[in-house]
Amino acid sequence: MFDNLSDKLDKAFHILKGHGKITEVNVADTLKEVRRALLDADVNFKIAKDFTTKVKEKAIGENVLTTLQPGQLMVKLVKDELTELMGGDAAGINLSGAPTVILMSGLQGSGKTTFSGKLANFLKTKKNKKPLLVACDIYRPAAINQLHVVGGQIGVEVYSEEGNKNPVEIAQNAIKYAKANGFNVVIVDTAGRLAVDEEMMNEIANVHKAIEPHETLFVVDAMTGQDAVNTAKAFNDRLNFDGVILTKLDGDTRGGAAISIKSVVDKPIKFIGTGEKMEAIDVFYPNRMAERILGMGDVVSLVERAQEQYDEEEARKLQKKIAKNEFGFDDFLSQIQQVKKMGNMKDLVGMIPGAGKALKDVEIEDDAFKHIEAIIHSMTPVERTKPAILDAKRKTRIAKGSGTSIQQVNQLLKQFDQMSKMMKMMQGGGGKNLMRMMGG
Ligand code: GDP
Repeated sequence: MFDNLSDKLDKAFHILKGHGKITEVNVADTLKEVRRALLDADVNFKIAKDFTTKVKEKAIGENVLTTLQPGQLMVKLVKDELTELMGGDAAGINLSGAPTVILMSGLQGSGKTTFSGKLANFLKTKKNKKPLLVACDIYRPAAINQLHVVGGQIGVEVYSEEGNKNPVEIAQNAIKYAKANGFNVVIVDTAGRLAVDEEMMNEIANVHKAIEPHETLFVVDAMTGQDAVNTAKAFNDRLNFDGVILTKLDGDTRGGAAISIKSVVDKPIKFIGTGEKMEAIDVFYPNRMAERILGMGDVVSLVERAQEQYDEEEARKLQKKIAKNEFGFDDFLSQIQQVKKMGNMKDLVGMIPGAGKALKDVEIEDDAFKHIEAIIHSMTPVERTKPAILDAKRKTRIAKGSGTSIQQVNQLLKQFDQMSKMMKMMQGGGGKNLMRMMGG
């Protein structure tokens, strides 16, 4: 995420870090580089200029030149200002209605339908809600089908009316249906066009007026940079929406939209989309995003994701198995599955402070565990619990069956063996051995 911008900002701070004595000229040069980095990331000219002016004022106010570590203080000032620019605190969504009505707006292809599904899934699994999805795109039957497919994937009902060409009526009927059937959130997906046009704006404005949503969300593709900001402005002028959803942040976005949108429309970014899967949704925290942009990682999000996947019951079972020396490849497989649920590897690595930059040029596979899983799946249940019984012939078969090489199979077995030894050592009193081993 935002690799290029992170890189350039890092270089800008090098100017300060590289000098023994910090002078006003160094600070000015750094800020010039920061501004250039923002412009390259497709941040609007005026926003970039105001940004550096504010940081400069603060730097003067805090007497940056006389502090012990001016480089670090400058990074902090830039981080604070980035956070402020992106919205300060995280903005929640209003779920007070009975049912809560959420209207989705945005251009075609922005990711509206996908996000409607993600939001429904998020509210269902994380907030214990019973959402209803509503298909209001009367022009494209394919769009209605797409929402049904999404609803099927996440087990959420989809309301649609075949043949009805009046989106206002469909939305109103859907809300009645929700009330009568115990749904507490209604998410209305509307028709988008390829570009802003008057007819589309009128249509969504009519739906908006008729159903008086508790939340009107504007969905926009982050990859479109300055265009995203302009589209946001056009929709906000008509709908006065409550929040922005930035999608496709997993792609090669330059970051300009994320940084500029709040200050142009004065509405917070509420969620971000980071992939095509239904789980690829994150609450937007300006502070955490600023830290990621500056290569400070996002440990808080990483720990939160791990906690979400943490199952106490499972952990206790696992501990017993390790104690009895029964940890096998099946347990290993289920551990891998837990990690995978946390998100794609590239995203996770980006949350580790410094790692994003260090591993920038390393190709990280989306499914880094693919080979390991294939190898384990090619083993018999008995082999999975007692890998020691594997002979050369079986190893060759397994390599063939999993589309890997015998070296890869051997490597995995070796790693597994080392891991088992380590686990044994950590058990009852073994911690001491480990400490000794590590020279403690
Ligand atoms: P709509 O026309 O606004 O309803 O857009 P769709 O929901 O159909 O999305 C358009 C395309 O973008 C689809 O191929 C989606 O899979 C893809 N998409 C949506 N959100 C994301 C995202 O966060 N990341 C990525 N990589 N693709 C996305």
